[in-house]
Amino acid sequence: MGIRLLLIILALWALYIIVRRYLPRSKDSDKRGENNDTNNMVQCKVCNTYLPESEALTKDGVFFCSEAHRIAGNDEK
Ligand SMILES: [Zn+2]
Repeated sequence: MGIRLLLIILALWALYIIVRRYLPRSKDSDKRGENNDTNNMVQCKVCNTYLPESEALTKDGVFFCSEAHRIAGNDEK
């Protein structure tokens, strides 16, 4: 009864997956390096806590978990 419909849906789904995979292929590989930065985990220089790079404070390429630790990290120099 519904087997033919199921096969059509499966075929369309497979086609959709293939098209999605191959169409933006070159763009995806180019952006891969940039996308990793947004979800990258970084370590606070002062307390060694890991936090997402988007939430971390940076100073001269060094990461800090909070404004207080950024100041503390700068005082060490
Ligand atoms: Zn910290």
